[in-house]
Amino acid sequence: MGLLDKQFNNSNVIITSLDNLLNWARLSSLWQMQFGLACCAIEMMATAASHYDFDRFGVIPRATPRQSDVMIVAGTVTLKMASRIKRLYDQMSEPRYVISMGSCSNCGGPYWEHGYHVLKGVDRVIPVDVYVPGCPPRPEALMEGLIKLQEKIRNESRVKKTA
Ligand code: SF4
Repeated sequence: MGLLDKQFNNSNVIITSLDNLLNWARLSSLWQMQFGLACCAIEMMATAASHYDFDRFGVIPRATPRQSDVMIVAGTVTLKMASRIKRLYDQMSEPRYVISMGSCSNCGGPYWEHGYHVLKGVDRVIPVDVYVPGCPPRPEALMEGLIKLQEKIRNESRVKKTA
């Protein structure tokens, strides 16, 4: 082995490098579950159009949860839709991520008080990684939310830490 012999006694060195490689691959190719719920979805579609070009982040819409890495919940989550969203989330393969886009998805939005038919935050049925505020958020805000998610993935570890 020569110079490299016994230089890497820390057993985490290779695992950490693999983590970095996997995280880089994941954060660079976040395939998005293709669906929208209400007005925020129009901004999401604008983000995917040519002017903002979400594709350059590796975000490609997929029409099936089984091939999707990230769910962007864009719009009002009615109680009727909540169970469908949960089912779609459950069908996504691990690791999976969720961006909550807009006030409705974050906390019920304009319906937070009197909207008897609206869920007061999608995080009541699925875990959320990043919240994007606004009514509706502009495409720049969604892109910042995606960059926050990428930062989170960059620092993830596949190895479960023991206390
Ligand atoms: S947050 Fe505002 S823009 Fe977005 S779905 Fe709700 S009402 Fe529409």
